[in-house]
Amino acid sequence: MQSKLPSIKEIITKHELFTRKSLGQHFLLDTGITDKIALYAEDLKNHNVIEIGPGPGGLTRSLLNAGAKTVTVVEKDDRCIAIMEELQEAYGKDRLHILHGDALKSNLLETIPAPRKIVANLPYNVGTMLLLNWFDDIYQQGNQAYSSLTLMFQDEVAQRIIATPDTSEYGRLAVISQFLCECRYDFQLPPSAFSPPPKVHSAVITLTPRSEPLFPVSKPALEKVVAAAFGQRRKMLRSALKSLGVPVEQLLEQAGIDGTLRAEVLTIEEFCKLAQIYEDNE
Ligand code: SAM
Repeated sequence: MQSKLPSIKEIITKHELFTRKSLGQHFLLDTGITDKIALYAEDLKNHNVIEIGPGPGGLTRSLLNAGAKTVTVVEKDDRCIAIMEELQEAYGKDRLHILHGDALKSNLLETIPAPRKIVANLPYNVGTMLLLNWFDDIYQQGNQAYSSLTLMFQDEVAQRIIATPDTSEYGRLAVISQFLCECRYDFQLPPSAFSPPPKVHSAVITLTPRSEPLFPVSKPALEKVVAAAFGQRRKMLRSALKSLGVPVEQLLEQAGIDGTLRAEVLTIEEFCKLAQIYEDNE
């Protein structure tokens, strides 16, 4: 039955799925690419897979064809819901579940049973915001929240997630991402891989939540310290950290960190140390 499905191109024509910029719509039409994303997500058979923004359903089909136990799609656009309902006829309602709504407002942990994986070609306009929401879930439940997240971002965002110290991409996003997850860069895609092509390159990355954060410190404290440090990334730490409203020289001394350094050279361990002391003295 599945082999009789129309191509994604035909689906787009049939449903008059002209793209909406406000919904960050850049579709993948090539099965080779969507199959590759499913492959990088690994072990779908034992997981309830969540796909944000299935659009015309290319990646959805690849996830189902790769044997995902179930796929739950979360989609805002009514036109794509009609496409998903057709796909449900082909793959069965027991395997493909449809949530019509805004992924930013969806409580995935309450709605979908564990073990879960997220696999998505994210709408770029809300991609980082979605990731930060999932970090809250991961901070609460570690790898019980999600076994992994395989996500397509703008390449520039992917680079900021995997960045290491002493690079211009290193900042708040790298520290928080790597504090909670192991982060792997999978592959890059040129604009021509999408319809319509975006202005920039894209990349697929896989985040594997740690069972516990990298160091024992609270995420809110770490976020405050990192926000202050990178809020003025060109300044020395002893000046940038003043916005924390605590005696900065003392904080740096207790952490054994040279106040003349700039935020971008500090390791995640050093940020965690600062956050631990900041939290203890607050
Ligand atoms: N997965 C499809 C593909 O790869 O061809 C489409 C990806 S497209 C980059 C992003 C999709 O997310 C669109 O289908 C869009 O309608 C949907 N979307 C945008 N904002 C959303 C939101 N807040 N909640 C759920 N879906 C959203």
